[in-house]
Amino acid sequence: MNANLTSLFWKGFSVSSCTEMTSDTLLIRLQPLTSRPPCCRGCHRSTLHIHDTSLRRVRERELLNWKVWLDVPVRRLRCSSCGIMTEKIDWLPERQRYTATLSAWVESLVRLLPIKHVASLTGLHWHTIKNIDYRRMLREVREPQRHTLRRLMMDEFALFKGHRYATVVVDADTQQVLWVGEGRSRAAFRPFFTWLGAEGCAAIESVAMDMNTAFDLEVREHCPQAQVVYDLFHVVAKFGREVIDRVRVDQANQLRENPKSRRVIKRSRWLLLRNPENLPEGHDVRLSELLEANQPLNTVYVMKTALKELWYAPNEQEASQRWAEWYKQSQESGIKALKQFAEKLKGYVGGIIASAAHRLNTSVLEGMNNKIKVIKRMAYGYRDNDYFFLKIKAAFPGKMR
Ligand SMILES: [Zn+2]
Repeated sequence: MNANLTSLFWKGFSVSSCTEMTSDTLLIRLQPLTSRPPCCRGCHRSTLHIHDTSLRRVRERELLNWKVWLDVPVRRLRCSSCGIMTEKIDWLPERQRYTATLSAWVESLVRLLPIKHVASLTGLHWHTIKNIDYRRMLREVREPQRHTLRRLMMDEFALFKGHRYATVVVDADTQQVLWVGEGRSRAAFRPFFTWLGAEGCAAIESVAMDMNTAFDLEVREHCPQAQVVYDLFHVVAKFGREVIDRVRVDQANQLRENPKSRRVIKRSRWLLLRNPENLPEGHDVRLSELLEANQPLNTVYVMKTALKELWYAPNEQEASQRWAEWYKQSQESGIKALKQFAEKLKGYVGGIIASAAHRLNTSVLEGMNNKIKVIKRMAYGYRDNDYFFLKIKAAFPGKMR
């Protein structure tokens, strides 16, 4: 087959000339094929009545080693039903300075690479890349359905420049991100409940969240029937920071005259905080040696494992017994940080025990936390919350029910 390259690229046009603009840039001038009458953008009917023609210069995807600009004569037509209308060109979106082929290429790159890298690969301005990505997401992100929501998860995360936060609400059943907004006060995420509406609020059965946030008060106001559940991921992370880290630092400090053991303990943070089943081979031996040599570290490590068991209790009664035992052991441990943590947890214990009856897979929250960090890195260079939030929604489109 004797394929005509240009007709594969630019339907309805042929190349009239090609010149080198610079040593790595081509300017390709196109001309409309006379064999194909143009189509009206409004009604898609073809017509031979041409009102006028104007030249548009647009960026095309690279051709071998060449950057490519196109000069495209675009016709305005006198359509019998629409009046004066621009012609429809499949590969050239209206009012854009690049072709559909180029934007599809950028769309696939920007899913994989930071915008900065896509900019240097394509030679396009980061602003152009961001706009292409933004339009892709507006097209793809679907509006969540209010009436099917039963179980929610709420979380907060830090925005680009520390100290400022945003709130995210997730459907626990499909893992779709439903809503993202700036701030973490009650007023900041009230718009979510407004969007959900009275009927939607009344259908909510449970909401998982971190302790010590403004979420629970607002949930109790709008969804008084819903059970607030404190999720394992946040509680265990807090235990790591407030108990394990504290004890580790204290123990290291007591070993000033023994630099070798001190170094082992100081460097054990990762070993202690990681899930044991995720430790690489050989590290489990290091962990057991460390725990054997240090009683307080061993105690808090065992208590961390026991703490997690509260969430895996088969029913609320069992969860409640496990809690009583855990609390008793923490008070008898003689470890100050552990006792304090247990005291604090006491105020939230209802929401922990309830998780035995309202099982929510909060590992999603952990995954989301990590993904948000990645998105932040990829979109580095922007301080545009609209774009950032839309990226989060696009990353969590939700699974089918
Ligand atoms: Zn028309």
